[in-house]
Amino acid sequence: MILSCADPGRDYVQLHRSALVADTHSDTPLRMVRGFDISERDTTGHMDIPRLQEGGVDLQVFACFVYTETPPEECRPTIDELIDTLEAQIQRNPDRIAVCTTASQAEEIVAGDRIAAFIGIENGVAINNSLDNLQHFYDRGVRYLTLTHTASNDWCISSADTMPAFDGLTDFGHEVVRQMNELGMIVDISHASVAAVREVLEVTEDPVIASHSCVYSICPHDRNLTDEQIMAVAENGGLICLNFFNGYLAPDNRWFQISDSFFNVHRAEIDSTVALYEDDREARHEALEPFFRMRSEAIANLGIDVGTLVDHVDHIVNLVGPDHVGFGSDFDGVGSLPNGLTDCSMVPAITRELVARGYSDVDIGKILGGNFMRVFREVCGG
Ligand SMILES: [Zn+2]
Repeated sequence: MILSCADPGRDYVQLHRSALVADTHSDTPLRMVRGFDISERDTTGHMDIPRLQEGGVDLQVFACFVYTETPPEECRPTIDELIDTLEAQIQRNPDRIAVCTTASQAEEIVAGDRIAAFIGIENGVAINNSLDNLQHFYDRGVRYLTLTHTASNDWCISSADTMPAFDGLTDFGHEVVRQMNELGMIVDISHASVAAVREVLEVTEDPVIASHSCVYSICPHDRNLTDEQIMAVAENGGLICLNFFNGYLAPDNRWFQISDSFFNVHRAEIDSTVALYEDDREARHEALEPFFRMRSEAIANLGIDVGTLVDHVDHIVNLVGPDHVGFGSDFDGVGSLPNGLTDCSMVPAITRELVARGYSDVDIGKILGGNFMRVFREVCGG
C-alpha cells in the first residue's frame, strides 16, 4: 500500500489517548496468584494498573493460564483460582478498572476513564474435555479460549508438536469451536498447529483471533502465522494480534539463534542448576536468573525495537489491509522484549512509530484496538 507522507506535526500522544487501545494477551494473573498486586506501580514484571494508565491501555486481556501437564481434575480449580484472584484485585480498584464481557460494556468502562479487563483462558486443557466446564468459564465471564499451548492436548494439536497424534482437531475439538460460537466466546488460534488452524477456520462461523502471534515470513517460527494463514484469517474476518516477544519478532529467527548458542556455551552450568531445583519451578527460575540476564545482554545487541514490531504490522497491512491486525503483548509471559517497549507504560511508542510511518488516524485507531472491538462485538454481542 502507498502510505501518505508522515506529518511531523501530528500529535501521537493525543492520538494514542483518544484511541481505544487494546492488548489481547498478558499472563499477569499468574503473577497475581503468586502474590503480585496490580494496584501499585512496580518495577518488576511488565504490568500493573498505574503502568496501564500511563501507557494509555484501555482494554487489557488477562489470560488465565494452566500448564498442559496439570492433572486433569486440577485444571478447572486452577483456572477458578486465577479468576478469583483477578476479580478480587479488580474489585479492590473499582475506580480504575472493571471486568467487561461485552464490547459495549468495555466502551462504557473506558468512557468512564477506567480500564476494561477482559478475561481469557490460555490452554484448552482448562476445560478438561468437558463442554460443561466451557459453559462454567463462560458464566464466570471468560470471553476467549486459546485452544492449545506448547504441547498438544487431547483435542487440539500444538504448533510445536512435530509428531501429532491426530490431524488438527478431534471431533470433540470441532464441538468445542461450535460451542464457543454458540456461547459467544472468541476462539484464539495462537499456539495451534497449521492443520488445527485450518480446521478451526472450516468449522467456525465467527471471526477468530490469534491473540499473541507474529508474521512467519519475517520470523519463521512455528508460533507465527504464514502469509497463507494471515489471508485465511482475514477472509474469516478475524485478527492477528502481534506478540511483543523478541523471539517471534526478530527477522530470520535471529533471537533463537543467539539464545541457543548462548545456552550451548553455558550448557553444563545450566544443566547442573536445573538438576538442583528439579521439583521447584520458581526456585529453578530464580537460580537461572543470572543466565537470563547474561543472555539479555547478548540479545540487546540485536537491536530489536518498536520499529521491528511495526515491520510486522506493515507486512500484514500490505497483505490484507488494516482491518486484521492488533496487539497482544504477552507481557508477563515472556522474558525478552523490544528496546523501548519493556513494559506496558511504553505502549505509546507504537503509536509514535505508526504516525512516523504515515498511517492515517483512522487506520491507527483500528490497529490499536478498533479491530479487536469489532471482533469482540461480533462474537460476544453487545
Ligand atoms: Zn502463549
